[in-house]
Amino acid sequence: MGGLSLVELENRCHRRGLRVTANLREILQALLAEPDHPDVDSLRERLRARGRRVCMATVYRNLGHLIAAGVVAEQHFGPGKARYEVATPHDHLIDISTGKIIEFSEPRLNALEDEIAAQMGYRILRRRLEFYAVPVGEKT
Ligand SMILES: [Zn+2]
Repeated sequence: MGGLSLVELENRCHRRGLRVTANLREILQALLAEPDHPDVDSLRERLRARGRRVCMATVYRNLGHLIAAGVVAEQHFGPGKARYEVATPHDHLIDISTGKIIEFSEPRLNALEDEIAAQMGYRILRRRLEFYAVPVGEKT
């Protein structure tokens, strides 16, 4: 889900004690440029297309830092490879016939989850919600 600029993400990194190196910045830019949940291979391809040759270990290391700092989120939609995106509060609907990933945000869901957790005496720190769906009218 869009809305964040590179500067805002860099500030977020700084606030969370993460040093913004050239490679780290390129990864953030690549994630912002096409927010389509790339896996690590397409992310590396993207970096290469931007004229930056980075080895896989470097991509993984930087992603690890960004995830630990809460700036990037790792997603697992189904059995495929992990996918990455800038961490913003939103959920996903995965069209299982096309693989298309649709992002959405629904404040009523968040309120309901908080209420459910509170009823059990908890407060939610992390959440994961995915809808696996087919278009209405399509046979499964
Ligand atoms: Zn997303």
